[in-house]
Amino acid sequence: MPGYYIWTVGCQMNKAESERIGSYLEQLGYQPRESAGEADLVVVNSCVVRQSAESRVVHKLDALRSLKNSCREVTVAVTGCLVDSNVDLLRQSFPHVDHFFKPGELPRWVAPQGTETVPALPRHPSASTFVPIIQGCNNFCSYCIVPYRRDREKSRPMAEVVCEVNELVRRGVKEVILLGQNVDSYGHDLPGSPDLADLLAELDGTDGLARVRFLTSHPKDMSLKLIEAVARLGKVCEDISLPVQSGDDEILKAMRRGYTVEHYRQLIAGIRRRIPGIALSTDVIVGFPAETEQQFEGTVSLLSELRFDTVHVAAYSPRPGTFAAREFRDDVPRAVKRERLNRIEQLQKKVVAEINARLLGRTVEVLVEGKKKGKWQGRTRGGKLVFFSSDGDLPGQVVNVSIEKTGPWSLQGSIESRNVNLDKEEKWGTVSR
Ligand code: SF4
Repeated sequence: MPGYYIWTVGCQMNKAESERIGSYLEQLGYQPRESAGEADLVVVNSCVVRQSAESRVVHKLDALRSLKNSCREVTVAVTGCLVDSNVDLLRQSFPHVDHFFKPGELPRWVAPQGTETVPALPRHPSASTFVPIIQGCNNFCSYCIVPYRRDREKSRPMAEVVCEVNELVRRGVKEVILLGQNVDSYGHDLPGSPDLADLLAELDGTDGLARVRFLTSHPKDMSLKLIEAVARLGKVCEDISLPVQSGDDEILKAMRRGYTVEHYRQLIAGIRRRIPGIALSTDVIVGFPAETEQQFEGTVSLLSELRFDTVHVAAYSPRPGTFAAREFRDDVPRAVKRERLNRIEQLQKKVVAEINARLLGRTVEVLVEGKKKGKWQGRTRGGKLVFFSSDGDLPGQVVNVSIEKTGPWSLQGSIESRNVNLDKEEKWGTVSR
């Protein structure tokens, strides 16, 4: 039996796509292997969103050169955001790579001609599984390479997504995380223009499914209808990822984000008014070209004011081909970027420790994902990691856990009862900020 190995770097979209590639290969008779050295087919699923990710990909491809030169026959393929339309240039840089295929595609060249395969679902789905619903992005934020590598937005038909979720539930999945680079845009390119709120309402009726989440939203595209759907639908978790990127209007304009700090602030206020227990996460870029100390302070002060559950922070790195790389000088010194990044990390550690501390003594609903170091681990509806002990066989179960210890990165507690009868508002585990 031929073997395959997939090396993945980057976002959840890449992880979901690697799952699908693996599933597709298994339908064709391939078996998973633990390392590239044992595989007949090695797939590198790449990311170039930041310089650090791109460097890791290049390092990995260089390391595969010796494998390719060994006497064993091995096929090397590359997908993900490294693969742009200029494949010839990639072939020159990495002559040992046999195939380049675009992100979101399957390695169909592996299949013998005429082979019919069913759609590739995750092979051994865990309790919580990603489901891509829209590919690409139409936004062209000035720093971002995604629209150039994943093309314009393309939604999957709603019936196809619903059918896939039903099949996943049949295989034991309890939570689906709907994925898109700009998930709020879902459906505008489909007949009848259904939107994400319509899809959530449809999935909310799926028997056996416990939870639905979605990633990643865009502040200029988040509608009242969507906020209402999150508030109203029982299975939709109170958990929204809404990247702000900067707390300064000039920088937001240079980033071409399409909103102001005040618009963002009002949006968060509106969401919190309607869903008081909402868990909010955001993304921030520090050291964007010409970002002054004062502009950076604007970001710090916005984060202190809005108090997110999670902040993903990255230092700006120019991505060749983007507007920002072409038009702006990357003039914030590396040491300054690092210092700004550290400041935000320290601030967020403090904020989230305080938010989590307010869950002490509360009962939260946890979807059990597995065991780690002898303890069960799972997530609350707000995405917080919880550890607890129990003799039961719990993977995939939704349990109530009383929180006894909190920290910035996780919570610990005791299982209360397996009967989940908290109403939606109680399930939020509402905490004041
Ligand atoms: S919304 Fe902006 S940052 Fe997000 S994928 Fe699209 S272009 Fe990139």
